[in-house]
Amino acid sequence: MAVLYVCRGCDEVIYIFNRVGQDSFGLPTPSELRGRVSSKCPKCGRELGAPGINDVIIVKRGELRKILKKASGLL
Ligand SMILES: [Zn+2]
Repeated sequence: MAVLYVCRGCDEVIYIFNRVGQDSFGLPTPSELRGRVSSKCPKCGRELGAPGINDVIIVKRGELRKILKKASGLL
């Protein structure tokens, strides 16, 4: 299961967590991600905030592939 962190403003994929073991950190919380990657979206400059429960979206594998294709620069 992959977890994508997407900008609320422009839908830019900020970070992709592919699987446990991809690095030594594990699944980052949104605040950890702000510390590790950036506190702002690299595309639109929007301040990255903590997601609410309505911001979590589960997508099917096929849809994920489309999203990943768009964000392939991050993989
Ligand atoms: Zn953005």
